[in-house]
Amino acid sequence: MAFQGTITCERGRIVSLIPSVGEVVIRSEAGIHTYPNAFAYPGFVDSHLHIFGYGMRITGLSFYEAQSAEECCELALQHTIFRGSWLVGMGWNQELWKNNKMPTKEMLDYYFPSIPVFFTRVDGHAAWVNSVALRLCGITASTENPLGGIISKDTSGNPNGILIDTAIELVRSFIPDFTYEQKSDIISASMNSLSSLGLTEVHDLDVYNDLLPIFRDGAERGTLPIRVQSYVQAQNDEWIHNGLLPAGGELHRISGVKYYIDGAIGSRGALLFEPYSDDASTSGIQLIDEKVLHDNYVRALEDGWQLSTHAIGDKGNSIVLELYSQLRREGIADNYSLLRIEHAQNVIPSEIELFHKYDIRAAIQPIHCISDAFMAEQRLTNRCSYAYPWKTLLDAGVVVGSGSDAPIESPDPRIGLDALVHRIPFNSTTPWYNHECISMKQAIDLYTSSAHSIADVGYRRGVLQPKFDADISVFDTNFESASRNEILNASVVATYVAGNKKYSKID
Ligand SMILES: [Zn+2]
Repeated sequence: MAFQGTITCERGRIVSLIPSVGEVVIRSEAGIHTYPNAFAYPGFVDSHLHIFGYGMRITGLSFYEAQSAEECCELALQHTIFRGSWLVGMGWNQELWKNNKMPTKEMLDYYFPSIPVFFTRVDGHAAWVNSVALRLCGITASTENPLGGIISKDTSGNPNGILIDTAIELVRSFIPDFTYEQKSDIISASMNSLSSLGLTEVHDLDVYNDLLPIFRDGAERGTLPIRVQSYVQAQNDEWIHNGLLPAGGELHRISGVKYYIDGAIGSRGALLFEPYSDDASTSGIQLIDEKVLHDNYVRALEDGWQLSTHAIGDKGNSIVLELYSQLRREGIADNYSLLRIEHAQNVIPSEIELFHKYDIRAAIQPIHCISDAFMAEQRLTNRCSYAYPWKTLLDAGVVVGSGSDAPIESPDPRIGLDALVHRIPFNSTTPWYNHECISMKQAIDLYTSSAHSIADVGYRRGVLQPKFDADISVFDTNFESASRNEILNASVVATYVAGNKKYSKID
């Protein structure tokens, strides 16, 4: 699957491949580039991530590693991106600090006496703010706690700078949005990082309407370092309110609408047939009524969208599979309608065949499996035997694309390849339910040709072959013969999109 030799590209497509041993040579209108000891692959695709969220993660102010309140403040002093006049940060955790004590406004007031500061805790359930922020938001000793929240007070009854749960909103609602330029910078940083990881295209899920012009502008100016398929927010009819329709061109396409049937396993929101093993009081949450979802699907299909639905629990998947199957049976979804399920983490084995029978495609995230395996064991116990069913899906002939769900997990495809092939959880050395491991050849396919197929561009991308788009990822490693260590330490040498070099390790 890895190619060595000369790839000639013209007007964005591959026109010839001449094999030779030991190097990759890419010829295009832009010149000839030679990469010794390298291996070329079809451009890698992440078929489920969140570009803006990942950009926020890599450009934003975060305190995940900080060991004290002072360290958070020192980090914040160096940060230069403001929202209006506000300094916003996230991820502090006093449990990691020596004194284990909740911080207070006094330290923030010392470091930041004149600008409002808003730092959320690692779990998002508390905010740490300074006196300027409290003053701007009108929070005083006499402000009452909102329903479901607490304004923490000091011994003299004044707000001490810690806001819990719904009290956080008393401040958050005052913080201005990023400007267009800031959003644009965050998106650029995100896409450049993704390109440096060897990706040439991503499927961006749950896209907000206000971000679409940034991608469109980048596509028109030819500055996008990766191709982007946008799946816009749809749960509350956002695409209708925003007047959106599928559209776009070569580098950016508004492709689909994204719904949610349920939540995630970690928060016990994934919808299950039977209660959670570690909390018999709940079987998860259904986020939308089936009839409403069906009607929404019909409207979206009529306007030419691809359908994408988040489904994690076995019952969540069952509901969406049944609704999609019904659309196919009724002919509302025709042969050109693309139906995909995001995550497909828990599928009752007898329902796997519905994916193939009704051409329902799956976007999976192997890193969730190796990250969540031990948590899943607590929540699902014996249901883990049919969790993250990669090989089962492939054996049933289902079209599957792989991705990462960044920023929740790392978008590095090397980790995804390793997870698909070895299925060894983080902090473990033993494969987890290894009957679902797949071959490296299959894993690469899930990041290339099949990943394109779940966005309906597999007919022209994802294979190094004449007439296909010249999207190429060059690594220093032949993954199919590599050890686990070599896979995880492989280097990206260069990426090409439409024959244009978008990233190279050297310059
Ligand atoms: Zn996601």
